[in-house]
Amino acid sequence: AVQTGVYTSPFPDIQLASSSIFTHFLNTDKEGYVGHHPAHWPAYIESFSGTAISRAQLRTHALSLGYALQHHPHYPAKRGDVTMLYSPNSVSFPLVVFGCIAAGVRVTLANAAYNPRELEHQYKDSGATLIFTFEEGLPTVLAMLKEMGIENANDRVIVCGKGTKWVGGPDVPRMHPEMTYMEDLLAQGTLEHEEKFEGEDAHETAFLCYSSGTTGLAKGVETTHQNLTSVVEMVMESLPDLTQKTASGVLPFFHIYGAVNLFLLPLRAGFATAVQPRFDPEQFCANIQRYRVAFCLLVPPIMNMLARHPVVEKYDLSSLQVIISGAAPLPVALTKIVRGRLRSLKCFAPIVQGYGLTETSPVTHLVPHFQATEENIGSIGVLMPSLQCRLVGEDNLDVEAGQPGEMWIKGPTVMKGYHNRAAETKDTITADGWLKTGDVAIRDSEGFYTIVDRKKELIKYKGFQVPPAELEDILCGHPEIIDAAVIAVYDDEQATELPRGYVVSKRQLTTTEERVAFEGEIKDWVKGRVAYHKQLRGGVSVIEAVPKSAAGKILRKDLRAKAKLEREQA
Ligand code: AMP
Repeated sequence: AVQTGVYTSPFPDIQLASSSIFTHFLNTDKEGYVGHHPAHWPAYIESFSGTAISRAQLRTHALSLGYALQHHPHYPAKRGDVTMLYSPNSVSFPLVVFGCIAAGVRVTLANAAYNPRELEHQYKDSGATLIFTFEEGLPTVLAMLKEMGIENANDRVIVCGKGTKWVGGPDVPRMHPEMTYMEDLLAQGTLEHEEKFEGEDAHETAFLCYSSGTTGLAKGVETTHQNLTSVVEMVMESLPDLTQKTASGVLPFFHIYGAVNLFLLPLRAGFATAVQPRFDPEQFCANIQRYRVAFCLLVPPIMNMLARHPVVEKYDLSSLQVIISGAAPLPVALTKIVRGRLRSLKCFAPIVQGYGLTETSPVTHLVPHFQATEENIGSIGVLMPSLQCRLVGEDNLDVEAGQPGEMWIKGPTVMKGYHNRAAETKDTITADGWLKTGDVAIRDSEGFYTIVDRKKELIKYKGFQVPPAELEDILCGHPEIIDAAVIAVYDDEQATELPRGYVVSKRQLTTTEERVAFEGEIKDWVKGRVAYHKQLRGGVSVIEAVPKSAAGKILRKDLRAKAKLEREQA
């Protein structure tokens, strides 16, 4: 592409760190401190019990867990090994991550709603050996291992129980006493120091989150230590002072958005995350009141709840200092409704949007909290420090100022590449280091960006990725389906996209009843094979043929137009 317009951030560059995330966030070079803050300050709070885990406890236990991993009887950890963590949010989650990192092990974070088939894809693809799981997730893990012909699960599975006795919290009875529990590993010994990733080694991979990127199935995103230390420094500039404050820890830690902002950022910014395993409107509001939450990181469907749910009025939300919505587009009208409602409840926190993708660790844009003006509603904000951005047109040229173009990003938070996928990496990152986001944006004269379209096929249900290619494979695996395509339809009521399938049927469907019955059958068939967030909630429709280009590419725009028409006629 011809490069004519390269935009930079309004903020000064950050200082790049060259060390592991363990060393960067949990070092003890200043007496009485762990990382940037006093050792005894809480880093995470278990919402339901109120048990806090301090920075010092996190560090100490992570070094013990690192020791146990290096001395594991079956898979003694070596630098560069991969461990899978399959769990909803808990205070054990950051401990497992830092324990692995202390031992030099990479962590692949899996969606806690995955079924055995989805988990197997990530487990095999990432090359993971050990698996940390939550108690309710054990049957899924065992089913996956069985499917893979692995019988002796106890060799490689470690269960994270609900109790937090290890930090003086309640001792909850174990659901699977026959298994190895994480807690038991903490007493075996301790590492003298963490595995070091200094200098060039800071470019080694720390996390492998999964993303389908612009096309195809979920791929392992190689996020390095330096990607992670950089992104945390970047967002600091746009946030208010959160020292000794509390954040709502409701967004999943297994998604890079939650991992960075809710379990790495608190270590740097000095707040504590009140950890919640799942979203529940009442608990969410009750915890804001109980923990005097200042920082809320949300997705548009939770904003929708704040706009409409009666429970919001029952609680004091006045402690909030900033609300950030990200992971999916936040409608302007919804922002205004939430703002109005919260103001009437004496909550004056600015509501701002952030934007990013797994491949950029993730945040590249954010509206600084002090710039939450009327004009900036709907904008994803300014470019983060140390990043460069271009807006590129269909002709592969930079667009004129003020025109829409695909956003390309360059800088220290761009992933290393897709794990074991050189071709896909080459399609996504140009030879000179520009990452193609697949999102189309415009930039105004003040340097504020707005997303106007998505070029890539990705669908997002409530902020979760739904790769159409995966659903299309599943649909085409049905004995009575010849061809299939999946697109997104937008649902205003729920403030989210919904995946909708179009299928070409082998079965003769002459009456409307037959057709409706078949569509229902297909919807259920998919439901039985995918996680909760990938179901065809936007419906299924039988068509004569899937529209395709001469090269055989699905013409998704045509299907989106068809869906729009269907909706208008309904
Ligand atoms: P993920 O890798 O799961 O974080 O998904 C990244 C994708 O989510 C981006 O490429 C966008 O398509 C979408 N996305 C994230 N944040 C926003 C936002 N604020 N507005 C619009 N789309 C967003």
